[in-house]
Amino acid sequence: MSRRTIDIAFPKAKVAVFLDGCFWHGCPQHATSPKANADWWRQKLDRNISRDRETTAHLVAAGWTVLRFWEHENPVAVAADIAAAVAATHGSDTEQS
Ligand SMILES: [Zn+2]
Repeated sequence: MSRRTIDIAFPKAKVAVFLDGCFWHGCPQHATSPKANADWWRQKLDRNISRDRETTAHLVAAGWTVLRFWEHENPVAVAADIAAAVAATHGSDTEQS
């Protein structure tokens, strides 16, 4: 987990998709705090979360649309959201205004 890459990228549409694990990325519904080595885990998971925010900020600054989903989300709904985002970006690409 030293470096985070985009899970699914649409370079032409500039849409980046991240599928975040509930535990590793601090899902508000499923985040748990291991009892053993609690401080170490807290620091490690906090680092993951702040790295997620940095990654998102960098991509947005570069003009990307960033979509983040939790691993517990319905895959069908996730796929529909991704398709809609890519389609929306593609639509604006073809406008010559
Ligand atoms: Zn979750």
